[in-house]
Amino acid sequence: MPSDRPKEKRPFLLDFFPLEGPEQTRLSRFFDRLREGRLSTTRCSKDGELHWPPRTACPRCHSEELDWVDLPETGTIYAFSAVLGGAPLGLEGDVPFSVGLVDLDGASLRLFGRIDGRPWTDLKVGGRVGVEPYALEDGRVFYRFRALE
Ligand SMILES: [Zn+2]
Repeated sequence: MPSDRPKEKRPFLLDFFPLEGPEQTRLSRFFDRLREGRLSTTRCSKDGELHWPPRTACPRCHSEELDWVDLPETGTIYAFSAVLGGAPLGLEGDVPFSVGLVDLDGASLRLFGRIDGRPWTDLKVGGRVGVEPYALEDGRVFYRFRALE
């Protein structure tokens, strides 16, 4: 059955990336800062708790007095996996690709994300990665890791 829907538009429920504007999320500063090349998150100004993902209120003390802080731009692969088939709709053309958990240098945070820059067969636990913004086709931005070695 023919569809009038533009092929580049994905159904909303299959959109893996968050809406980023200030009218859509109170965390729009995260995306603004990412567009400037700065991966950042929130830190509670009351108890110093560092959050990931960024928050609008501290999960520990419920304070809404949070500061934005930049995160380290490098880290170490804690674990990774390869997507070799059965990729989600819209990502079929990217197969094979890697995703993993990365411990950021000097921060007690372990982030999940895609790892680019090397075939999955060349990645290793303990391998070094950098963090970089990734521009989506529709103008939004997200982050990805890039293998450094
Ligand atoms: Zn707090």
